[in-house]
Amino acid sequence: MSDLRELYQQVILDHNRAPRNFRKPEEDETRAADGHNPLCGDRVTVYVVLDGDVIRDVAFQGSGCAISTASASLMTERLKGKTVAEAREIFASFHSLVMGKDGDREQLGKLAVLEGVREFPMRVKCATLAWHTLQAALDKTGETVTTE
Ligand code: ZN
Repeated sequence: MSDLRELYQQVILDHNRAPRNFRKPEEDETRAADGHNPLCGDRVTVYVVLDGDVIRDVAFQGSGCAISTASASLMTERLKGKTVAEAREIFASFHSLVMGKDGDREQLGKLAVLEGVREFPMRVKCATLAWHTLQAALDKTGETVTTE
């Protein structure tokens, strides 16, 4: 088990050190939303480019703790090319997992490395911030998402 934890830790540190899709897409139809987690100070802007119902591109910028950055990075990796419906299903699984219920691990892939946050309720907000923000971008609410 401790080996597994070590591996999880490494994935999170790697994504924090070198976040994937950390950029702003230049396309006209890019949707964006801002998210803020006042408890930790995490701030994120999530960008999404849809092609019909398919997420053609998803990216983010911002600054926050290792968990929030790694979660956003892993999220963009996982969701690119998925449909909006699939993305919402994956978020539901991810949310279940970090809340201490059973998520669909196969569907989550590498995102399962964030499972450990379930032991730290404050960290759950760090791990889900980018996801709530993505939903706001998809729903075009235009409001800043806050975890409070
Ligand atoms: Zn945080």
